[in-house]
Amino acid sequence: MNNSTYMDWLKALPADDETFRECACPACGSLGLAYQYFGFRDSNFGWKLIWCEVCKHGINISRTRIPESAHTLVEESEQAEFNRQHSEIRLIS
Ligand SMILES: [Zn+2]
Repeated sequence: MNNSTYMDWLKALPADDETFRECACPACGSLGLAYQYFGFRDSNFGWKLIWCEVCKHGINISRTRIPESAHTLVEESEQAEFNRQHSEIRLIS
């Protein structure tokens, strides 16, 4: 049922991380999106994965600034573990 595009997602996303929980999924309309930052050691930039827990669609935003307070996965082992636990996410590109 997913006809959403990458642009649909970008347009729907809130600017503020605090309001992701109130954002409707562009793919299925469910309320609340999850996100996770990934980064590099000694860098404020990384990438951000955003997904819907209901329909499992999501997007990857590359080269994004990571807020100081954000929980960021930097270690390769942490990122691998995350990917194992979220293997059902279907990225829209
Ligand atoms: Zn959804």
